[in-house]
Amino acid sequence: MIRLLIQSSKLLSLSLLILITGCKDEPKEENEMAMTTDNVLLQDYEGPYGGVPAFDKMSVEDVKDAAETGMEMSLKEIDAIANNSEPPTFENTIVALERAGKALNNFFSYYGIMSSNMSSPEFREVQAELAPKFSEYSSKISQNKKLFQRVKSVYEASQNSPLEDDQQRVLDLTYKGFEMNGANLDEEKKKRYAEINKELSSLYTDFSNNVLHDEENYVTYLTEDQLDGLSEGFIKSAASLAKEKGEEGKYAIVNTRSSMDPFLTYSTERELRKKVWENYYSRGDNGDEYDNNEIIAKILKLRKERVGLMGYDNYAEWRLQDRMAKNPENAMELMMAVWPAAIARVKEEVADIQAVADANGDNITIEPWDYRYYAEKVRQAKYDLDSDEVKQYLQLDKLTEAMFYVAGRLFNYNFTPIPEGEVPVFHEDVKVWEVTDKDSDEHIGLWYLDPYARQGKRSGAWATTYRSHTTFDGKETVLASNNSNFVKPAEGEALLVSWDDATTFFHEFGHALHFFSSEVRYPTLNGGVRDYTEFQSQLLERWLSTDEVINQFLVHNETGEPIPAKLVEKIKKASTFNQGFSTTEYLASALIDMKLHLADPENIDVDKFERETLAELNMPKELPMRHRTPHFGHVFSGEGYATAYYGYMWADVLTADAAEAFVEAPGGFYDENLAEKLVKYLFAPRNSMDPAEAYKLFRGRDAKMEALMRDRGFPVTEDVN
Ligand SMILES: [Zn+2]
Repeated sequence: MIRLLIQSSKLLSLSLLILITGCKDEPKEENEMAMTTDNVLLQDYEGPYGGVPAFDKMSVEDVKDAAETGMEMSLKEIDAIANNSEPPTFENTIVALERAGKALNNFFSYYGIMSSNMSSPEFREVQAELAPKFSEYSSKISQNKKLFQRVKSVYEASQNSPLEDDQQRVLDLTYKGFEMNGANLDEEKKKRYAEINKELSSLYTDFSNNVLHDEENYVTYLTEDQLDGLSEGFIKSAASLAKEKGEEGKYAIVNTRSSMDPFLTYSTERELRKKVWENYYSRGDNGDEYDNNEIIAKILKLRKERVGLMGYDNYAEWRLQDRMAKNPENAMELMMAVWPAAIARVKEEVADIQAVADANGDNITIEPWDYRYYAEKVRQAKYDLDSDEVKQYLQLDKLTEAMFYVAGRLFNYNFTPIPEGEVPVFHEDVKVWEVTDKDSDEHIGLWYLDPYARQGKRSGAWATTYRSHTTFDGKETVLASNNSNFVKPAEGEALLVSWDDATTFFHEFGHALHFFSSEVRYPTLNGGVRDYTEFQSQLLERWLSTDEVINQFLVHNETGEPIPAKLVEKIKKASTFNQGFSTTEYLASALIDMKLHLADPENIDVDKFERETLAELNMPKELPMRHRTPHFGHVFSGEGYATAYYGYMWADVLTADAAEAFVEAPGGFYDENLAEKLVKYLFAPRNSMDPAEAYKLFRGRDAKMEALMRDRGFPVTEDVN
């Protein structure tokens, strides 16, 4: 399979956005052009467990040569497929594509480690040099006319005589991948298509740069007597930020979410809160040369024109065709079903916080810069949660055991630690476990865990694979990893984590279980569907608070006592706190994203459109959209989330509905029958079947959005679907 690598300029992270995918009767050794290389990063994995990456032998010096040689090898394989003199068949075209690019795929496993886990200035230099080459490589494949003609012939033949289900799906996905990117256009339209893309990519850069400008250039400086309410840690970092900016002795509130959010939550200085709020929510909207409104109008027009070339009415229709939602109407229906409850909850929350302000003797009417501040007061009064107390029950080692327990009960997996030195790792902190089937002892794969923060490691938590399950060329076992950024404890001390971090730890393990349980034949079918692929891992989070986990693993690090039921109850209750605010700010952005792309972009006044649309929606005046249009980077600094911001809520509905299935099952969250269905329909098929059909097989019906309403503590009315 060809992993087309697209470098996200914002995150500089690897994301496999396009997975193109393979010919048994055409052995490669017959191909005169087959290349060999001794670059270690391109070699087949060697050693035990079906071969493992040689992490002990990788070095930055080999990266550039490996990337260039790997791409060249891969393109030769592609050319051989495209120029095959035999008539195109599923085997000699699609299966051959699935098989191509193996050396380069191996390379990307090392490249991923060097960019995410072990980055260095030397590596970043090579990375910057390679970025345009990767994009050129991707275009060479997606624009290979002969290749597309062969894919198209196989696709057209299958319309009369369909293939086996999973083969048809690989073929459909491959064909769609080309088609959605303009492969079917005539020469004239192709030319315009390329021009539009070029123009768009520079508009995306301009958009991001403008937002960045406004983030860097609007700083609110505080003096010593303006720090009331702020935490010591926050004050310290504000002082060092001010110093960096040449304002020593002052305190800088910079124009980013991580500065704005805590300031608005804790600062007692109302006028300053207003100023910080206005700076933040005006990014890209200051009517100067860094204003994004015109750029957005141009982007909308160009996007519509580009999909119009391919015969689509609007961008949303084009974007959503291969998503679980399938079309903008389905996504809109979900959003509009939740919206009334969200804004009704805001009314209640505003009444609550207004009461706090009144009781406090603050003679004010709640404005957007007051919401977080008074909501925090309500939170403290209603859900007095001592996060330090909770932490005492959350030890990383015990949480790891808890995850193995859950995987044993649901997936029938056994995790056995691999003795140090048996499998190469890229850092001494990385530990490896063998995953086997509890009954048959069958080897399923290896699980790598890289738990600790270090210099050169990106922030956050993530899951990835070094090899995925496939059977089309003989069975390949899974190499999966979880990565997080816990602070390494002193020797012999327990690592205590927050409830949020424990939840994320389970979440990422859910991705790993999704990798391990794959039953697909072809690599392409391991791919994800954006509004579906977070669902499985979100669902796994729910096992953290099951009684079995609580009683055995959430135990006090000194006394060994399980976490008190009352404390767990408090944590669960606190999760529905302020859902009016968070659901409304999110949905307002998701709705505007969709509506902007459904509107006629001719002469659109973006600023006015936002204002009028929010008014029509009865957007509460006490809070803003989470991302206002002029700085909505998800949607306008690239295409990743354009008309797709709804996707978070889509996955949330599935999560809430599937969790209720377990609540209702006779055996609860460990019901054997339901666990079997969970693995069989929701995890193992990955993208080998339509996600909506897979869900129906699990649940016996479609997901109902009432489950999400209950989950967020919203009232459920009978007439909603
Ligand atoms: Zn995730």
